[in-house]
Amino acid sequence: MIKKEGFDFCFDENACKTCKGKCCIGEGYVFLTDEDIENISGFLSLKKEEFLKLYTRKVNGRIALVDLVIKNEKRCVFLDDNYRCEIYPKRPKQCRDFPFWESLKDKNFGEIKKLCPGIVACS
Ligand code: SF4
Repeated sequence: MIKKEGFDFCFDENACKTCKGKCCIGEGYVFLTDEDIENISGFLSLKKEEFLKLYTRKVNGRIALVDLVIKNEKRCVFLDDNYRCEIYPKRPKQCRDFPFWESLKDKNFGEIKKLCPGIVACS
C-alpha cells in the first residue's frame, strides 16, 4: 500500500496484477519530460530523433506518446497484448506518479476510484 503526503487516498499496487492496464487505455495523453525522452530512447536503443519520430507527437506544444486504436479502444503504444508496459523500467514520470497527480488531489474519492481499482481508502 502506497501513501503520499497531501493525498486523501492510497494506492494498492496489487490491483495492477488484474486490472488490465486501465490507466494506459482510453482518452488522455502521456506527456514526456526531457529525461523521459532520454531514458526511453536509450532503453529502446534508438537515437532520440528516431524515438521522437516513431513514438511521439506534439500536443499543444508538448511532446506526448502516440496512441494505438485497437478494436475501437485507444491505448498507449507501449501497452502490449498482455496489458504490460513494454518500457516499464523506464516508463514516463507521468506513469510512475499515477495516481498521485496534482490534478486528482482535490477530486471526490468516488470519482477518482473509477479511474483505477488500485485507488483505495487508506487504512
Ligand atoms: S508508457 Fe507504459 S505505463 Fe505509461 S501509459 Fe504507456 S503502457 Fe502505460
